[in-house]
Amino acid sequence: KESRAMKFQRQHMDPGGPSNNSNYCNQMMRRRNMTKGWCKRVNTFVHEPLVDVQAVCFQGNITCKNGQPNCHKSNSSMNITDCHETSGSKYPNCDYQTSHKERHIIVACEGNPYVPVHFDASV
Ligand code: 5GP
Repeated sequence: KESRAMKFQRQHMDPGGPSNNSNYCNQMMRRRNMTKGWCKRVNTFVHEPLVDVQAVCFQGNITCKNGQPNCHKSNSSMNITDCHETSGSKYPNCDYQTSHKERHIIVACEGNPYVPVHFDASV
C-alpha cells in the first residue's frame, strides 16, 4: 500500500518541472492519478529538490487548517505550480488552470522519519 509519505510525493513533488506550458496541470493531474473517480479540485506541485521540501518539517512550526499542530512553513519561498479545476471542468474530462508561483509552502509532517504527508497551503 502507498504510504502517506509516498502519496505526498506523488501528489506534490515535481522537482524537474515545470515545463513552461499551460497544459501542465491537465497533464500532471492525470499522470499522477488525481483524476480517477473524480477531479481533485485544487493541488499544488513543488519544483524543488525533495530534500529541500523534506527539510521544511524542521522549519517554522504552525497550526494546520484542520487545527492539528504539525504544520510547518518553509523559511524560503519555493517554485510551485497551483492547479485549480476550471468552472467548465466535468469529470472524466478534468480541466485545470495552471499558475506558476514563488511562495512559502505549508506542509503537515508525520512519522519517524518526520516527513511531509500533506500539503496545507502556500503563502
Ligand atoms: P480556493 O482557492 O479554492 O478558495 O482554496 C484553495 C485552498 O487550497 C487554498 O487555501 C490553498 O492554499 C489550498 N491548497 C493549495 N494546494 C493544495 C493542495 O495541494 N492540497 C490541499 N489540501 N490544499 C491546497
